[in-house]
Order: sequence, then C-alpha cells, then structure tokens
Amino acid sequence: MNIPRLIAGIVTLLTAAWAHPQDLVYTLPTDNTALYTTGGDDYFMYVDRQFEGIKSKPWQAGTYGMVRNPFRPQPGAPVMFSRFHEGIDVKPIYRDASGEPLDAIRPIAPGMVVHASSTPSHSNYGRYVVIAHSVPEGTIYSLYAHLASVSCEVGQKVGRQHEIGRLGYSGVGLNKTRAHLHLEIALMINSRFEEFYTGENKHGNFNGMNLAGFNPADVLRACRNGRAFSVSNYFARQKEHYRVAVPCIKAMDILRRHPFLYKGSRTERTRPESLEIAFTAEGLPIGIYPASRQVTQPFVISCRSMPTVQQNCTVNRVKNSSAEAVLTLSGLRYVTQYLWTGAPGETSVAKNTP
Ligand SMILES: [Zn+2]
Repeated sequence: MNIPRLIAGIVTLLTAAWAHPQDLVYTLPTDNTALYTTGGDDYFMYVDRQFEGIKSKPWQAGTYGMVRNPFRPQPGAPVMFSRFHEGIDVKPIYRDASGEPLDAIRPIAPGMVVHASSTPSHSNYGRYVVIAHSVPEGTIYSLYAHLASVSCEVGQKVGRQHEIGRLGYSGVGLNKTRAHLHLEIALMINSRFEEFYTGENKHGNFNGMNLAGFNPADVLRACRNGRAFSVSNYFARQKEHYRVAVPCIKAMDILRRHPFLYKGSRTERTRPESLEIAFTAEGLPIGIYPASRQVTQPFVISCRSMPTVQQNCTVNRVKNSSAEAVLTLSGLRYVTQYLWTGAPGETSVAKNTP
C-alpha cells in the first residue's frame, strides 16, 4: 500500500468535505431589528402614493413583490398592483441633527464582494454593492443599494461585522426623508450577460437585469432564531405562475451553476427534446423540467388564471388572458437571456431576440 498516497487521498477527501458549502444563517443588514418584532412601518420604508384621489404612505410598497402601482381590474373589484419591487426597503434608525441617515450596512452573511459601484449616476440603484455567498445550491448574491458611501472593494472577503457602506438615498427618485437600504437576494440569470446585453452596461453580470430576486424578508425571518436557510427548500415552496417551453440547449448556464433547478433525472443518457421553465409571477425560475415536444422558439404552455390581463401580474412578460397567454416582447427577451450561450449553433434563439 502506498501510504503517502493514501494519506494524500484522505486529506483531499477531508478538505472536500470541509469546503462543501453549507446552508447559511442570514442576519439583518442594519441595526433596525423591527423585522423580528413590530415589522410594518417600523421596518419598511413607505412610498408616497396617490390613488383614487387619496394620498397615502404605505409601508407595504417597501416589501418584496407586486406591491406598487395600484389599480382595480374593474370598478369595485379589489385593488391589485402591477409593478414589481424586487427587494425590501429597510428604514434607517439613526439620523444626525440635519436628518442625514447614519446606519452602517453589514453583509447578511459572510461572502465575497463581487461588485461595488460608487458612482450614483451609473444605476437606478445609486451606489451599490453585491456580495456572493456560497451555498449548497450554488452561488447566491445579496445586493445593497442607495448607499451614501461604499467602504469595501471587489475581491474582498467580508464577515457579518464588516461595514460595507452607509445607508443613504443615492439613485433615482429618492430624497433624505425616504432614505433606505434596498436589499435584494438573487440568483444570477446568465454568467455571459455582458455578451448578451447590447445596451450600455457599467455593471457587468451584476446589472440588476441579470439578477432574479426572491423575498429577502422571508429569508431573514426564517433565520431569526439562528436557523440556517435552505434555498432549495424555499424554492420548492414558491408558487408557479407560468411555464415556458424552450429548446433544450447544451450547458444551459443557470443549470450548470444551479443543478438543483433541474427536475428531471440527472442520470439520463439522452438529452431531452426540450425544456420547460417554471416561473413565479415575479419571474423567479423555480424549476426546469425535461420535455419531449419539439420547440424552436420559447412559448407559454401554462399560466395561472387571474382577474386581470397577465401583463399586470407578470412584470409585463406574459400577455392576454391565461387561456391565451403568450410571451410579450420583453418576456421573450427575458426567457432568451436564460438560453444565451454565446456559442454559435448552441441555441436556435437569436441573440437579443427580438
Ligand atoms: Zn427598493
């Protein structure tokens, strides 16, 4: 027996086990702890709203989901909301004498800074930081926006106690009164977004258009008692709103990075004819299924029924009634973003279609 080789093998195995990513416990990004107690107005920043002649400041508009732009599908029908807010807006709890917010921003879990944008005019997010976290399902990202200042650098490893910036009101449509931290937790849609996207992009893969967010308040609340959070368990509980058939491409980027999304057998020898991507109403991909139908262009195969046209409930990615649901141009573009491989012949879906 080759003892040195045996020892080397054991060390390798132990190292692999040691390095295996674990579910993380996520903690609050500021000293505001009201998410765990009173919540509501004490935690979430309101928006100024005028609807049906009435002015209000609803804190609900600072939560995640379809919470903005109220409308009634019919007179007298319950109010619905057509605009998606992809994160949560956390209220400051410290201000100086002139009302400037002072709250320190800390990572919600240990990770590595992968993007730090210090020029407010470069994004609607204003100054923002993105941190990568390694979990069993792959790498997920937390994003901290509207900062007054950034105090971390790309490539830096950060722990929970590291101050990565100060809460502020940089970005579009904000003022001192409504200063808040906009927090997102997201998957990256495509690691080749820079090639896919032909518009101006100062943020590479960490452009908000390339991050599909889920509810940070759910994540933080689930960890309240020090419990770790399982991304795959959480995704399994999300509600499918629509499903899109797409061509089966080799090495679909998001599946390569997040194999947990695949709902077929991983040991299949043959590639399925096509795939089906299940999305929540907000556009979070929660499952990718093998299918046998022939598909050359993405199309909607199912869509949950709603009391209004689908544009209003799907971030304008699906239109018409559920029975006649089809992708809008922006929906087709969104789905194409998942399929882009950059390699000629790998996808029949053209770059930047339409
Ligand atoms: Zn926000």
